[in-house]
Amino acid sequence: MKRLVLTLIALFTVLGASAQLQDRTLRVDYIFSGTDKEASISVASLNSFNTWAGRRVNMDKVPLRGNGQISMADAVTGQVLYRMSFSTLFQEWQATEEATRVTKAFENVFLLPMPESPVNITVELYDFHGKAVASLTHPVDPSDILIRPVGDNPPPTIDIHHSGPSSRCIDIVFVPEGYTRQEMGIFLQDCRAAWASFMNHEPFASMRDRFNVIAALIPSEESGVSVPRNGDWKSTALESHFDTFYSDRYLTTLQLTRLHNQVAGLPYEHIIILANSTTYGGGGIYNSYELTAAHHSAYAPVVVHEFGHSFAGLADEYHYDDQFVEYYYPDVEPWEQNITTRFDFASKWEDMMGQPGVGLFEGGGYQSKGVWRSAQDCRMNTNSCPAFCPVCQRAIARMIDFYTVENE
Ligand SMILES: [Zn+2]
Repeated sequence: MKRLVLTLIALFTVLGASAQLQDRTLRVDYIFSGTDKEASISVASLNSFNTWAGRRVNMDKVPLRGNGQISMADAVTGQVLYRMSFSTLFQEWQATEEATRVTKAFENVFLLPMPESPVNITVELYDFHGKAVASLTHPVDPSDILIRPVGDNPPPTIDIHHSGPSSRCIDIVFVPEGYTRQEMGIFLQDCRAAWASFMNHEPFASMRDRFNVIAALIPSEESGVSVPRNGDWKSTALESHFDTFYSDRYLTTLQLTRLHNQVAGLPYEHIIILANSTTYGGGGIYNSYELTAAHHSAYAPVVVHEFGHSFAGLADEYHYDDQFVEYYYPDVEPWEQNITTRFDFASKWEDMMGQPGVGLFEGGGYQSKGVWRSAQDCRMNTNSCPAFCPVCQRAIARMIDFYTVENE
Protein backbone atom coordinates (compact mmCIF):
# COMPACT_ATOMS: atom_id res chain seq x y z
CA MET A 1 0.00 0.00 0.00
CA LYS A 2 2.81 2.37 0.93
CA ARG A 3 4.44 1.53 -2.37
CA LEU A 4 1.22 2.36 -4.28
CA VAL A 5 0.88 5.70 -2.53
CA LEU A 6 4.49 6.55 -3.32
CA THR A 7 3.93 5.62 -6.96
CA LEU A 8 0.84 7.83 -7.13
CA ILE A 9 2.70 10.75 -5.54
CA ALA A 10 5.51 10.29 -8.05
CA LEU A 11 3.02 10.15 -10.91
CA PHE A 12 1.29 13.37 -9.88
CA THR A 13 4.67 15.06 -9.52
CA VAL A 14 5.59 14.05 -13.05
CA LEU A 15 2.29 15.36 -14.38
CA GLY A 16 2.68 18.55 -12.35
CA ALA A 17 6.15 19.24 -13.74
CA SER A 18 5.30 18.22 -17.28
CA ALA A 19 3.79 21.62 -18.07
CA GLN A 20 7.25 23.18 -17.77
CA LEU A 21 9.60 20.32 -18.60
CA GLN A 22 9.89 18.08 -21.64
CA ASP A 23 10.70 14.39 -21.56
CA ARG A 24 14.06 15.23 -23.16
CA THR A 25 17.57 16.10 -21.98
CA LEU A 26 19.34 19.44 -22.26
CA ARG A 27 23.06 18.76 -22.00
CA VAL A 28 25.17 21.82 -21.24
CA ASP A 29 28.93 21.52 -21.75
CA TYR A 30 31.04 23.98 -19.75
CA ILE A 31 34.68 24.95 -19.40
CA PHE A 32 35.85 25.62 -15.83
CA SER A 33 39.23 27.31 -15.81
CA GLY A 34 41.59 29.14 -13.52
CA THR A 35 44.38 28.74 -10.99
CA ASP A 36 44.59 27.90 -7.28
CA LYS A 37 43.13 31.34 -6.53
CA GLU A 38 40.80 32.05 -9.45
CA ALA A 39 37.97 30.21 -11.17
CA SER A 40 35.80 31.09 -14.12
CA ILE A 41 32.95 29.31 -15.87
CA SER A 42 32.17 29.44 -19.61
CA VAL A 43 29.49 27.76 -21.72
CA ALA A 44 31.07 25.58 -24.43
CA SER A 45 27.99 24.11 -26.15
CA LEU A 46 24.34 23.14 -25.81
CA ASN A 47 23.07 19.71 -26.85
CA SER A 48 19.83 17.77 -26.65
CA PHE A 49 18.62 14.20 -26.84
CA ASN A 50 15.27 12.50 -26.81
CA THR A 51 15.05 10.97 -23.37
CA TRP A 52 15.14 12.20 -19.77
CA ALA A 53 16.52 9.56 -17.43
CA GLY A 54 17.07 11.92 -14.49
CA ARG A 55 14.87 12.15 -11.44
CA ARG A 56 11.25 13.33 -11.55
CA VAL A 57 10.92 14.15 -7.87
CA ASN A 58 12.50 16.80 -5.62
CA MET A 59 13.32 18.78 -8.77
CA ASP A 60 14.00 22.11 -7.04
CA LYS A 61 16.05 20.59 -4.18
CA VAL A 62 19.62 19.39 -3.71
CA PRO A 63 20.45 16.36 -1.55
CA LEU A 64 23.83 17.79 -0.46
CA ARG A 65 25.54 21.14 -0.81
CA GLY A 66 28.42 19.74 -2.90
CA ASN A 67 31.39 21.74 -4.17
CA GLY A 68 29.17 23.38 -6.75
CA GLN A 69 25.56 23.65 -7.87
CA ILE A 70 23.63 24.13 -11.08
CA SER A 71 20.08 25.46 -11.12
CA MET A 72 17.59 26.16 -13.88
CA ALA A 73 14.85 28.78 -13.38
CA ASP A 74 11.94 29.91 -15.53
CA ALA A 75 13.06 33.13 -17.27
CA VAL A 76 9.74 34.87 -16.62
CA THR A 77 8.63 33.75 -13.17
CA GLY A 78 12.03 32.85 -11.67
CA GLN A 79 10.59 29.57 -10.42
CA VAL A 80 13.37 26.99 -9.95
CA LEU A 81 12.61 24.02 -12.22
CA TYR A 82 15.69 21.93 -11.46
CA ARG A 83 18.74 21.98 -9.17
CA MET A 84 21.67 19.67 -8.63
CA SER A 85 24.94 19.67 -6.70
CA PHE A 86 28.28 18.26 -7.82
CA SER A 87 32.05 18.15 -7.38
CA THR A 88 34.70 18.57 -10.07
CA LEU A 89 38.18 17.46 -11.01
CA PHE A 90 38.92 21.13 -11.66
CA GLN A 91 38.48 21.92 -7.96
CA GLU A 92 40.67 18.95 -6.97
CA TRP A 93 43.32 20.28 -9.32
CA GLN A 94 43.06 23.75 -7.74
CA ALA A 95 44.54 22.21 -4.56
CA THR A 96 47.65 20.97 -6.41
CA GLU A 97 51.05 22.67 -6.62
CA GLU A 98 50.68 22.96 -10.39
CA ALA A 99 47.70 25.29 -9.94
CA THR A 100 49.93 27.85 -8.20
CA ARG A 101 51.88 28.48 -11.42
CA VAL A 102 49.65 27.74 -14.44
CA THR A 103 46.12 28.47 -15.66
CA LYS A 104 44.27 25.36 -16.87
CA ALA A 105 40.84 24.55 -18.33
CA PHE A 106 38.65 21.53 -17.57
CA GLU A 107 35.53 20.22 -19.28
CA ASN A 108 32.34 19.72 -17.27
CA VAL A 109 29.04 18.37 -18.52
CA PHE A 110 25.61 18.55 -16.88
CA LEU A 111 22.33 16.90 -17.83
CA LEU A 112 19.16 18.91 -17.26
CA PRO A 113 15.53 18.28 -18.17
CA MET A 114 14.74 20.24 -21.36
CA PRO A 115 12.48 23.18 -20.43
CA GLU A 116 9.35 24.05 -22.41
CA SER A 117 10.13 27.77 -22.41
CA PRO A 118 13.17 30.06 -21.91
CA VAL A 119 15.14 29.62 -18.69
CA ASN A 120 18.15 31.04 -16.88
CA ILE A 121 20.79 28.54 -15.80
CA THR A 122 23.15 29.39 -12.94
CA VAL A 123 26.35 27.48 -12.12
CA GLU A 124 28.26 28.17 -8.90
CA LEU A 125 31.53 26.81 -7.50
CA TYR A 126 32.25 26.85 -3.74
CA ASP A 127 35.47 27.01 -1.73
CA PHE A 128 36.31 24.94 1.39
CA HIS A 129 34.25 27.37 3.45
CA GLY A 130 31.20 26.92 1.25
CA LYS A 131 31.46 30.41 -0.23
CA ALA A 132 30.68 30.92 -3.93
CA VAL A 133 33.97 31.74 -5.67
CA ALA A 134 32.70 31.57 -9.25
CA SER A 135 29.25 32.03 -10.71
CA LEU A 136 27.75 32.19 -14.18
CA THR A 137 24.13 32.79 -15.17
CA HIS A 138 23.21 32.31 -18.82
CA PRO A 139 19.90 32.18 -20.67
CA VAL A 140 18.79 29.13 -22.66
CA ASP A 141 15.90 29.20 -25.10
CA PRO A 142 14.77 25.64 -25.93
CA SER A 143 13.97 26.81 -29.48
CA ASP A 144 17.60 27.95 -30.03
CA ILE A 145 18.69 26.56 -33.42
CA LEU A 146 22.24 26.06 -32.11
CA ILE A 147 21.21 23.40 -29.57
CA ARG A 148 22.77 20.38 -31.24
CA PRO A 149 20.75 17.12 -31.31
CA VAL A 150 23.01 14.25 -30.21
CA GLY A 151 22.40 10.60 -29.45
CA ASP A 152 20.70 9.48 -32.65
CA ASN A 153 23.01 6.46 -32.74
CA PRO A 154 23.55 5.39 -29.14
CA PRO A 155 25.85 2.42 -28.60
CA PRO A 156 24.33 -1.06 -28.11
CA THR A 157 23.65 -1.99 -24.49
CA ILE A 158 23.16 -5.09 -22.35
CA ASP A 159 20.94 -5.10 -19.24
CA ILE A 160 22.89 -5.88 -16.07
CA HIS A 161 19.93 -5.24 -13.75
CA HIS A 162 16.44 -4.10 -14.74
CA SER A 163 13.78 -2.95 -12.28
CA GLY A 164 11.27 -1.01 -14.37
CA PRO A 165 10.78 2.08 -16.50
CA SER A 166 13.64 4.59 -16.49
CA SER A 167 11.22 7.26 -15.23
CA ARG A 168 10.90 5.41 -11.89
CA CYS A 169 14.48 4.16 -11.53
CA ILE A 170 17.99 5.44 -10.95
CA ASP A 171 19.79 4.73 -14.21
CA ILE A 172 23.43 3.60 -14.06
CA VAL A 173 25.53 3.00 -17.16
CA PHE A 174 28.76 1.00 -17.16
CA VAL A 175 31.18 2.36 -19.77
CA PRO A 176 34.22 0.37 -20.92
CA GLU A 177 37.61 2.04 -21.22
CA GLY A 178 40.50 0.27 -22.92
CA TYR A 179 38.57 -2.86 -23.94
CA THR A 180 38.83 -3.79 -27.63
CA ARG A 181 35.93 -5.17 -29.64
CA GLN A 182 37.25 -8.68 -28.91
CA GLU A 183 37.27 -7.90 -25.17
CA MET A 184 33.59 -6.89 -24.81
CA GLY A 185 32.83 -10.28 -23.23
CA ILE A 186 35.41 -9.57 -20.54
CA PHE A 187 33.86 -6.13 -19.98
CA LEU A 188 30.43 -7.71 -19.43
CA GLN A 189 31.91 -10.15 -16.90
CA ASP A 190 33.48 -7.17 -15.12
CA CYS A 191 30.10 -5.35 -15.06
CA ARG A 192 28.37 -8.39 -13.56
CA ALA A 193 31.14 -8.80 -10.97
CA ALA A 194 30.73 -5.12 -10.02
CA TRP A 195 26.97 -5.42 -9.64
CA ALA A 196 27.42 -8.61 -7.58
CA SER A 197 29.67 -6.60 -5.27
CA PHE A 198 26.99 -3.90 -4.95
CA MET A 199 24.52 -6.65 -4.03
CA ASN A 200 26.86 -7.63 -1.18
CA HIS A 201 26.47 -4.14 0.28
CA GLU A 202 23.59 -2.49 2.11
CA PRO A 203 21.60 -0.47 1.36
CA PHE A 204 22.10 -1.30 -2.34
CA ALA A 205 20.99 -4.93 -1.89
CA SER A 206 17.64 -4.19 -0.23
CA MET A 207 16.96 -1.14 -2.45
CA ARG A 208 17.99 -2.79 -5.73
CA ASP A 209 14.49 -2.38 -7.20
CA ARG A 210 15.18 1.37 -7.44
CA PHE A 211 17.98 0.83 -9.99
CA ASN A 212 18.35 0.07 -13.67
CA VAL A 213 21.87 -0.88 -14.73
CA ILE A 214 23.06 -1.16 -18.32
CA ALA A 215 26.41 -1.86 -19.95
CA ALA A 216 27.25 0.24 -23.03
CA LEU A 217 29.32 -1.63 -25.60
CA ILE A 218 31.90 0.95 -26.70
CA PRO A 219 35.12 -0.63 -27.94
CA SER A 220 38.54 1.02 -27.74
CA GLU A 221 41.07 0.80 -30.55
CA GLU A 222 43.78 -0.43 -28.18
CA SER A 223 43.68 -2.66 -25.11
CA GLY A 224 44.57 -1.19 -21.70
CA VAL A 225 44.89 2.41 -20.55
CA SER A 226 47.62 5.05 -20.78
CA VAL A 227 50.43 5.21 -18.21
CA PRO A 228 52.18 8.52 -18.92
CA ARG A 229 55.09 7.99 -16.48
CA ASN A 230 56.13 5.04 -18.65
CA GLY A 231 55.63 7.00 -21.87
CA ASP A 232 52.79 4.57 -22.60
CA TRP A 233 49.94 6.38 -24.40
CA LYS A 234 47.06 4.36 -25.86
CA SER A 235 44.18 5.12 -28.18
CA THR A 236 41.13 4.41 -26.02
CA ALA A 237 37.45 5.37 -26.06
CA LEU A 238 37.71 7.93 -23.23
CA GLU A 239 41.43 8.85 -23.33
CA SER A 240 41.82 8.13 -19.61
CA HIS A 241 45.24 7.90 -18.00
CA PHE A 242 47.10 7.27 -14.76
CA ASP A 243 49.28 10.05 -13.27
CA THR A 244 46.39 12.54 -13.13
CA PHE A 245 47.79 15.68 -11.47
CA TYR A 246 51.17 13.80 -11.46
CA SER A 247 49.81 11.32 -8.89
CA ASP A 248 50.81 7.73 -9.92
CA ARG A 249 47.62 5.93 -8.97
CA TYR A 250 45.15 8.59 -9.97
CA LEU A 251 43.38 7.17 -13.04
CA THR A 252 40.83 9.57 -14.57
CA THR A 253 39.55 10.89 -17.86
CA LEU A 254 39.48 14.65 -18.36
CA GLN A 255 37.50 14.19 -21.61
CA LEU A 256 34.03 14.77 -20.17
CA THR A 257 32.53 15.90 -23.48
CA ARG A 258 33.90 12.83 -25.22
CA LEU A 259 32.52 10.61 -22.44
CA HIS A 260 29.03 12.10 -22.73
CA ASN A 261 29.13 12.00 -26.55
CA GLN A 262 29.87 8.26 -26.33
CA VAL A 263 26.75 7.52 -24.23
CA ALA A 264 24.45 10.24 -25.65
CA GLY A 265 20.92 8.98 -26.25
CA LEU A 266 21.12 6.23 -23.63
CA PRO A 267 19.01 6.47 -20.47
CA TYR A 268 21.74 7.33 -17.94
CA GLU A 269 22.17 9.40 -14.78
CA HIS A 270 25.26 7.90 -13.13
CA ILE A 271 28.37 6.72 -14.94
CA ILE A 272 30.70 3.91 -13.84
CA ILE A 273 33.74 3.62 -16.10
CA LEU A 274 35.58 0.30 -15.90
CA ALA A 275 39.18 0.48 -17.05
CA ASN A 276 40.87 -2.57 -18.54
CA SER A 277 43.88 -2.45 -16.23
CA THR A 278 45.50 -4.62 -13.55
CA THR A 279 47.04 -1.58 -11.84
CA TYR A 280 45.25 -0.35 -8.73
CA GLY A 281 43.70 3.02 -9.41
CA GLY A 282 40.62 5.10 -9.98
CA GLY A 283 38.49 7.81 -8.51
CA GLY A 284 34.95 8.98 -7.94
CA ILE A 285 33.69 12.54 -8.32
CA TYR A 286 30.29 13.41 -6.87
CA ASN A 287 27.68 13.55 -9.65
CA SER A 288 30.34 13.40 -12.35
CA TYR A 289 31.57 9.82 -12.74
CA GLU A 290 33.48 6.99 -11.14
CA LEU A 291 36.37 5.25 -12.84
CA THR A 292 37.88 2.02 -11.51
CA ALA A 293 40.56 -0.40 -12.72
CA ALA A 294 38.67 -3.66 -13.21
CA HIS A 295 41.43 -6.26 -13.06
CA HIS A 296 43.04 -5.48 -9.74
CA SER A 297 42.49 -7.88 -6.81
CA ALA A 298 40.69 -5.13 -4.83
CA TYR A 299 38.26 -4.42 -7.69
CA ALA A 300 35.12 -5.67 -5.91
CA PRO A 301 35.44 -3.36 -2.85
CA VAL A 302 36.89 -0.42 -4.81
CA VAL A 303 34.10 -0.25 -7.41
CA VAL A 304 31.60 0.13 -4.54
CA HIS A 305 33.82 2.55 -2.57
CA GLU A 306 34.20 4.90 -5.53
CA PHE A 307 30.43 4.85 -6.13
CA GLY A 308 30.15 6.04 -2.52
CA HIS A 309 31.91 9.19 -3.76
CA SER A 310 30.30 9.59 -7.17
CA PHE A 311 26.70 8.71 -6.21
CA ALA A 312 26.34 9.54 -2.53
CA GLY A 313 28.97 12.27 -2.14
CA LEU A 314 30.64 10.40 0.74
CA ALA A 315 34.11 11.43 1.93
CA ASP A 316 37.06 9.12 2.34
CA GLU A 317 37.15 8.05 5.98
CA TYR A 318 40.90 7.39 6.00
CA HIS A 319 43.60 9.88 6.89
CA TYR A 320 47.31 10.35 6.54
CA ASP A 321 49.41 10.56 9.72
CA ASP A 322 52.43 12.09 8.09
CA GLN A 323 50.76 14.50 5.69
CA PHE A 324 48.54 17.25 6.97
CA VAL A 325 46.52 18.60 4.06
CA GLU A 326 43.78 20.87 5.30
CA TYR A 327 40.51 20.50 3.43
CA TYR A 328 38.24 20.96 6.43
CA TYR A 329 38.20 23.85 8.86
CA PRO A 330 36.87 23.86 12.44
CA ASP A 331 34.40 26.66 11.69
CA VAL A 332 32.74 24.81 8.79
CA GLU A 333 30.70 21.61 8.90
CA PRO A 334 31.63 19.50 5.82
CA TRP A 335 28.75 18.75 3.46
CA GLU A 336 29.84 15.12 3.21
CA GLN A 337 27.52 13.11 5.49
CA ASN A 338 30.09 10.63 6.87
CA ILE A 339 32.61 13.05 8.40
CA THR A 340 32.24 15.90 10.88
CA THR A 341 34.33 18.74 12.29
CA ARG A 342 31.81 18.76 15.19
CA PHE A 343 30.94 22.35 14.23
CA ASP A 344 27.35 21.27 13.60
CA PHE A 345 27.32 17.66 14.73
CA ALA A 346 23.53 17.71 15.14
CA SER A 347 23.28 17.86 11.33
CA LYS A 348 25.28 14.62 11.14
CA TRP A 349 24.93 11.39 13.16
CA GLU A 350 24.42 12.81 16.66
CA ASP A 351 20.97 11.17 16.61
CA MET A 352 22.57 7.77 15.89
CA MET A 353 25.10 7.89 18.75
CA GLY A 354 24.69 4.88 20.98
CA GLN A 355 23.52 2.60 18.18
CA PRO A 356 25.74 -0.46 17.61
CA GLY A 357 28.92 0.50 15.78
CA VAL A 358 28.29 4.26 15.86
CA GLY A 359 30.61 6.65 17.63
CA LEU A 360 33.18 9.40 17.07
CA PHE A 361 36.65 8.48 15.89
CA GLU A 362 39.18 11.20 15.13
CA GLY A 363 40.76 10.98 11.65
CA GLY A 364 39.05 11.12 8.29
CA GLY A 365 38.84 13.16 5.11
CA TYR A 366 42.66 12.80 4.79
CA GLN A 367 43.17 14.63 8.10
CA SER A 368 44.43 12.94 11.27
CA LYS A 369 43.19 15.84 13.43
CA GLY A 370 40.06 17.95 13.47
CA VAL A 371 37.87 15.57 11.45
CA TRP A 372 35.87 12.68 12.91
CA ARG A 373 34.25 9.61 11.36
CA SER A 374 31.52 7.46 12.91
CA ALA A 375 33.04 3.99 12.85
CA GLN A 376 36.38 2.30 13.36
CA ASP A 377 36.11 0.88 9.84
CA CYS A 378 33.88 1.26 6.78
CA ARG A 379 33.81 0.66 3.01
CA MET A 380 34.79 4.33 2.75
CA ASN A 381 37.88 3.64 4.89
CA THR A 382 39.57 0.34 3.93
CA ASN A 383 39.21 -2.28 1.20
CA SER A 384 39.24 -5.05 3.84
CA CYS A 385 36.09 -3.82 5.62
CA PRO A 386 33.10 -5.82 4.29
CA ALA A 387 30.40 -3.14 4.60
CA PHE A 388 29.49 0.53 4.80
CA CYS A 389 29.22 1.86 8.36
CA PRO A 390 25.66 2.62 9.61
CA VAL A 391 26.11 6.37 8.94
CA CYS A 392 27.17 5.77 5.32
CA GLN A 393 24.31 3.29 4.88
CA ARG A 394 21.83 5.90 6.01
CA ALA A 395 23.40 8.54 3.74
CA ILE A 396 23.19 6.23 0.71
CA ALA A 397 19.60 5.22 1.50
CA ARG A 398 18.65 8.90 1.79
CA MET A 399 20.27 9.58 -1.58
CA ILE A 400 18.37 6.69 -3.21
CA ASP A 401 15.14 8.08 -1.72
CA PHE A 402 16.00 11.59 -2.96
CA TYR A 403 16.00 10.28 -6.54
CA THR A 404 12.89 8.15 -6.24
CA VAL A 405 10.51 9.47 -3.55
CA GLU A 406 9.10 13.01 -3.28
CA ASN A 407 10.04 14.64 0.05
CA GLU A 408 7.24 16.03 2.18
ZN1 LIG B 1 31.24 5.13 6.56
